[in-house]
Amino acid sequence: MKRLLSGMQPTGSGRLHLGNYEGALKPWIALQGKYEMYCFIADWHALTTMAGSTDSIADQSREVALDYLSAGLDPSQVAIFRQSAVPQHAELAVLLGMLTPVSWLERVPTYKEKREHVERQEGGSDASVSFGLLGYPVLQAADILLYRAHVVPVGKDQAAHLELTREIARRFNHLYATDVFPEPQALIQEMTGTLPGLDADSEGKLRKMSKSYGNCIYMTDSEDDVAARLKGAFTTPTKMRKTDPGIPEGCSVCLLRKLYDADNYTTQWDECRSGERGCVQSKRETTEIVNAMLEPIRERRKLYSSDPAELDRLLKDGAERASAMAEATMQIVRETMKFL
Ligand code: AMP
Repeated sequence: MKRLLSGMQPTGSGRLHLGNYEGALKPWIALQGKYEMYCFIADWHALTTMAGSTDSIADQSREVALDYLSAGLDPSQVAIFRQSAVPQHAELAVLLGMLTPVSWLERVPTYKEKREHVERQEGGSDASVSFGLLGYPVLQAADILLYRAHVVPVGKDQAAHLELTREIARRFNHLYATDVFPEPQALIQEMTGTLPGLDADSEGKLRKMSKSYGNCIYMTDSEDDVAARLKGAFTTPTKMRKTDPGIPEGCSVCLLRKLYDADNYTTQWDECRSGERGCVQSKRETTEIVNAMLEPIRERRKLYSSDPAELDRLLKDGAERASAMAEATMQIVRETMKFL
């Protein structure tokens, strides 16, 4: 079986939203059984934005693990573990960093973006742009190459990082005349577009669901949370009354309805357009539909969170399986580089 690696950061509260669920977790679940899978919680990566506040990093990582499990990831088929539980990630990152030109890292589009974001957050100081932020793609390359992963499911925004991993793998293989690292292929899931959030930007356009915009529905939201979030959701700004014509394509509520009621949404869309149906009714119905979709996720979460010792055991077991693969790779790397 080919190996697949993927992970998510435990930033913020650690709770994942429906964008993460649709764009990452659901595709992983569709792939389990088809690959030898390693799905990790990128707790070291999270430090690029929260190095000074690690008090709750362990709790946040557990929240991510619970979201993985409640989405339906099967721990018997997938190694679920925290990056920090497998220190070989750091060892390989140091070695790969030695053969990665800085110019390659400065070229990564998300670096500049993130640097600007961090600078804005902390008052424009260069001191807040860490070596870790620049070196992020080297650690990411180590994450992937440590498992000699053949495929990595990625969003379009991550494609440049993966290309860098491939370049680093090629450089390593070339420098040491080896083929130890397969070049990982991007597995871009056609089915997943970007899930819009519940608000609009300053131009009145929908934008992606993202923790940093605070426009999310979280997998852990209660029925009442979902109702409250949808009550405040962005719809057609010119549809003040039920009878005003709506534009479902530009409405966050209608788009959620389309996603989770694919067979029947057209009536709601038509009646929204024609002014036969108002936003209040659409929001109420979409709340019910989203809540029904979340129900099995809530049930699984209840089960897993009722037994913290079992969660610890699952994470430990995942880390042991990951470590076995990681150590096997590092043995080869150390030998190849003549450290042994
Ligand atoms: P992030 O925390 O933004 O790095 O996202 C983690 C994963 O969730 C990545 O695979 C993203 O592609 C996916 N993701 C995040 N937000 C969305 C969204 N709004 N729609 C679809 N996928 C998303």
